[in-house]
Amino acid sequence: MIALTDVNSFYPSAEVVFEPHNRGKPLIVLTNNDGCVAALNRQAKELNIPRFAPYFQIKELCEKHKVIVRSSNYELYSDLSMRFASLISEYSPNVHIYSIDESFADLSGQKNLLQLGADIRRRIWTELRLPVCVGIGETITLAKAANHAAKKIRGYHGVCFIESSQQREAILSQMDVEDVWGVGRRIAKRLKLFNIHKAIDLAKWPPKHAKTNFNILLEQTVRELNGEPVKEWDTVRADKQQIWSTRSFGERITDIESLYQALAKHCAIAAKKLRDQGSVAQQLIGFAASSSFDETPQSFKILHRFEVPTNDTSVIAGAVRENIHQLFKPGVPYYRAGIGLVELRSECNVQLDIFAKDRSNPKLMQCLDAINNRFGNGTALLAGEGIEQKWDMRREYLSPQYTTNWRHIPKIRC
Ligand SMILES: [Mg+2]
Repeated sequence: MIALTDVNSFYPSAEVVFEPHNRGKPLIVLTNNDGCVAALNRQAKELNIPRFAPYFQIKELCEKHKVIVRSSNYELYSDLSMRFASLISEYSPNVHIYSIDESFADLSGQKNLLQLGADIRRRIWTELRLPVCVGIGETITLAKAANHAAKKIRGYHGVCFIESSQQREAILSQMDVEDVWGVGRRIAKRLKLFNIHKAIDLAKWPPKHAKTNFNILLEQTVRELNGEPVKEWDTVRADKQQIWSTRSFGERITDIESLYQALAKHCAIAAKKLRDQGSVAQQLIGFAASSSFDETPQSFKILHRFEVPTNDTSVIAGAVRENIHQLFKPGVPYYRAGIGLVELRSECNVQLDIFAKDRSNPKLMQCLDAINNRFGNGTALLAGEGIEQKWDMRREYLSPQYTTNWRHIPKIRC
């Protein structure tokens, strides 16, 4: 038996964990640079604010209805997400983090699953103040369907366990086929030509037909809807093959020093990810560009090959410093920039070169990571990243980093 736990409206829910006075009020979270609506809670959806709407278009509407507006607070979301996943892992030795707010857990061999689902839900609320729905079923696809039912169908109180085939049929007949995991809108449109509208229609379709008219993945979905486990999650999360850090600027950059600072910051972010997964990179890609909406859009790119593969922030930023003149042209109003680390390999089996000097300093990097892990990101940084980052992302409505920054710890007055 598989359980899928999913946080309801994760970003808006995370925003009210430490601001409970805002709970129940309409709230939206904006994308990078406060450009568009990234996420909304139920109350904001009821005001008919569309997702992905540019903020300037709905600003008036938000002011009129006293909608609470927040910039994306990734520090808060990723920390809460980690805590959420770690709580789920206490319920099973075999869990799979599917996304920032969804985790699967294999509950095979455990009893009273409906009760267990309710316990998980209550515990995450008690300890994290995040509302979740739990769906339990015999396969990954059924767990997803149960989760959908827990969220959308009345009477489940956030927990749905598909126990019997009658219950399975009842739920699948209330579910549109496009809501089935792995179907999506495009396939659903074609399925309608076969008179398949609801999830139950798909479940009753002979798997052979799904394979011949579509593909093997849809055949697996049909089998899974009938309780036959076919899909599996990877027990180990595959390491990333490439690591990128890119972003648009809050303000256009026109000087070389600011451009270097922005790129050095991307180097620090990407190199940290590289060290976290125990990899080193052979090659660096750097780019800087004006906006594609500018009259004459311009973009520049560099490729740099390290003599010895590295994950050292200062070596990587040093390579950018050496090549910055190829990225910078006076007069270009730079809008975005970023770096990519590619040709990754494990740091344990690096081919050494007797003629090349390894300039990495792993001890210094360990020290840097230890300081930043303990005191919050950005406590220790390369001087090259700059102290006053005026080009940084626009985040006018940012909430505090309650859980990852000592200075933002909530104060309680008794
Ligand atoms: Mg969710």
